[in-house]
This record gives sequence, structure tokens and C-alpha cells, in this order.
Amino acid sequence: GAVPLATVPDPGDRLLGGLLSPDFDDRSCLSRFRAARYRRASLHALSPHLVSALRRYESLHRLCGPGTPAYARAVERLRAPPNASSGDDGADPSCNYLVWTPNAGLGNRILSITAGFLYALLTDRVLLLDGSRGDLDDLFCEPFPGSTWILPRGDLPARGKLTIDTPESLGNTLGRGEAPGAGAPWLYAHLVHNYNAQDKLFFCDDVQAQLRRVPWLVFQADNYFVPGLFLMPRFERELARMFPRRDAVFHHLGRYLFHPSNTVWGMVARYHGAYFAKADERVGIQVRTFKWAPISTDEFYGQILKCTHRENILPAVVAPAANTSKAAKRKAVVVLSLHGEYSEMLRNLYHEHGTVAGEAVSVFQPTHLGEQHIGDKQQNQKALAEMVLLSFSDVVVTTGVSTFGYVSQGLAGLRPWVLMRPNHGKAPDTPCRLAPTIEPCFHRPPNYDCRAKARCDTGRIVQHIRHCEDFPEGVQLL
Ligand code: GDP
Repeated sequence: GAVPLATVPDPGDRLLGGLLSPDFDDRSCLSRFRAARYRRASLHALSPHLVSALRRYESLHRLCGPGTPAYARAVERLRAPPNASSGDDGADPSCNYLVWTPNAGLGNRILSITAGFLYALLTDRVLLLDGSRGDLDDLFCEPFPGSTWILPRGDLPARGKLTIDTPESLGNTLGRGEAPGAGAPWLYAHLVHNYNAQDKLFFCDDVQAQLRRVPWLVFQADNYFVPGLFLMPRFERELARMFPRRDAVFHHLGRYLFHPSNTVWGMVARYHGAYFAKADERVGIQVRTFKWAPISTDEFYGQILKCTHRENILPAVVAPAANTSKAAKRKAVVVLSLHGEYSEMLRNLYHEHGTVAGEAVSVFQPTHLGEQHIGDKQQNQKALAEMVLLSFSDVVVTTGVSTFGYVSQGLAGLRPWVLMRPNHGKAPDTPCRLAPTIEPCFHRPPNYDCRAKARCDTGRIVQHIRHCEDFPEGVQLL
């Protein structure tokens, strides 16, 4: 059928054109209806089909979520001994579950939750998050009205750590020649970067048909595997209706799902009030260093300056003694990094020198935590507050390959200026590039052709999925 027209939401609409459910009150989650007021209005069209798919999903979640009779029955069946015929098979044919388990840093987690949610939408599963390690506590508000997306403690089908070797994994099940769904009432999908050829069959239509029989699907991913879903013929039509423009999948789903808790929102609103509110222009610069791409602080600082000056993001400075006119424009720059040196050097630069056109540049950095502690509750809260703050910028500069940056640019709905990776410790000649899309990169695509049953290049199958500029091994939606 014809693809319905998508429309850009009216900036004054607190429900963002129907993206958000009206069935929430304001107080339980301050950020839900307020965050949009701090951002530039979305320029990305939202399809009525996505809006109705979200409302339909919310009803399903309400019907099958924790605390409902359907949920209690589903857990009971999960616990029944393997060969016990439960007698009530098919009693809740509509309640199937997708359980997300955590892996890697917060940026990766937000992206894997989003990919899982889209998969749940496409397969009529109810998404539940394993928060048993406590690191989801007081981080996000509930996204679905009248229910919870947190899996009750003790209800995780799997015992022990889930890894590539877990016998109940899809890959190992297929490897043993067994049909998924024939035995255990649950199955594990290992979608982590080290997944093997058998695990990758998750992205094949025939395997997806078999997975429909599995009531509990548990998955772990450190990847934005959304482009992989766009490769499967069975989802093609539905995805085209939900996303007539494919380049804003994370933008819409991220704004729908991730509302910072009141604690986190407090941090965001305070930073904003102290530093961003009075500025004429807000610039966000995310500086991430990776062990696999070493670069010295001075070299990276040089790259950031070259990028921001060349692209007119930050003004050029004049000699220290030069007389500058009175402040014409106030620019506030937020630097986000685990390290404090970059913002310190930038702050000194604009403290010691005036600017050519007389702009006043203020530089601040909310935290510099030194190193990352995966899964630490307070670190996650601060990281989320900073991702959200970055998404309030008018101009975004990110570090390539960082999922932290992907989340911010997606929530902002802005194509970021991406600091490209160093070349043997040296800044590249082109210090940064405007990203071709706001979509995150899927770093480890399957590179498997299901029909030919052979390796292939996922970046060359369809026109709208291309290799990423910041990470050529990966692919992204355009
Ligand atoms: P990625 O590793 O850049 O893809 O991003 P992740 O978010 O997955 O993992 C990095 C983790 O390190 C974050 O979740 C934070 O805990 C921490 N981190 C990295 N950069 C920053 C930063 O600029 N600010 C804060 N507060 N934390 C950061």
C-alpha cells in the first residue's frame, strides 16, 4: 500500500506529534514533557504508522507486563520442568518476551535497548530489562504507561553469566542441529561483537520464523543492530511504514524511550541553568579517547581546535594585547570528557585572548571522572545527564566511534561534526567531518548473505545501508 505521509511535529506540542503517550502525568517524570523544550524542535518527520505502532505496543505491554496474570503464567511455564506438559500451552498466545541484559558502557546499552525495542515492536514481544545488578536504578523513567519495563528480580530465565558459550544460545542450538524453540522455553541471542557465524543467523528470515515459537528470548548486545533488522525481507514493509525516512530511527525511538529520572534530570537542568541558559549559542564537544586509537592530549587538542576553527564552530582569537569590542554574542561551550585537560586548555585560550568578532566564549565541563567504571550507578547517572545536556546544543562535535556521542546526536537530531580517528598517533589531515546521517553506526554487522548462505559485505546489499565514515567496518542507515 501507499506509505502514509509523515509530518514534522509542531514545536509547541508536548506529546511531540504523538510520539509520547498522553497517559502519563508530569510529576512522576519531570523530563518526559520538559526535555523537548530545551532542545531545538525536531526537524525529522514522524509517521502516523509509528505512532500507532507505539500505542499498540503500549497496550500489549500493559496486558503482558510484570504484575499481570498473563505474566505470572508465562513465568510459571518457564519454571516448569522441561518435559512436563503444561496442558495450557498457547493460553497466552500473544505474550512473548524479549529480555535485554546489559553489556558494555551506557552508550552501548542505550543503543542495544533501542535495537531490542524495535525488534520487539516488529515481533510483538514485550521488552523487559534485566536490572538485577542495580545499575538501572534511578536512571530512566518508565517509558510505557501503566506498567514497568524492569524484569522482576529472579525472573531471568538464564542462570549464570550469558556468553558465546551458553548452551542455550541460538548459535549453539543451531550448531547442535536442533531447531530453536523445540526444547527449552527460552533461548539466548548472543549479539555481542564477538558473535560467531551461527549466532549471526539471527539476521536471517528463516531463523526468525523459528524464533516465533520461543516465548522467552533473552539477548545481549553491545551494538546498534537496527540496520541488521532492515536487511530482513520479513520486516521490510513494516519498517518502511514506520520509518519512511530511515535516517531517524534512533532519533524517534530514543526520544520515546529514554527519559532521565528526576535525579538525573535535576543534574541536567542545573547544568543547563548555570551554563547554557543565557548563551546565544550552545556548542557541545564530546572528547573520547580509546586505547585502540592512541593520541597524545596535545595532539588531540590541536585536532579539536583545527576542527572547530575551520568549521566556524568556535571563533578565532586575536593577540592577547589586542583591543576587542564589547561582547557581541555569548557562546557557551560544554566539553564532555573523562579528562579535564581539553576544557582547561580551551578555557585558558578564551580567557587569555579576545576573539575577532568580539564573541564571549565560556567553556565548562560538568565532570572529569578520569576513568570509566562500567555499571556504576552514579557514573551512569552522570553520563546520562551529560549525554542529554550535549543533546541540547545547537552544534555538536563528537568523537568518531563513540556510542556516547551517537546517543547525544540522535537525541539532538543533529548531524554532528565528527572528530576522525588518529593515524598512528597523529591527528588526521581532515580533523573532522559532518556526519552523513544522525543514525548510529552498527559496528559489527553480520556480513552474511542468508539466501546465498555465504559471507558478504552488509554495506553493499541495499542502497540505504552504507559503511560508516567513522568506522568503515560498520554500517549505518542513510
Ligand atoms: P563509548 O565507549 O564511547 O562507546 O561510550 P559508552 O557510554 O558505551 O561507554 C563509556 C562510559 O565511560 C560511559 O558510559 C561513561 O560511564 C564513561 N564516560 C565516557 N566519556 C564520558 C564523559 O564525557 N562523561 C562522563 N560522565 N562519563 C563518560
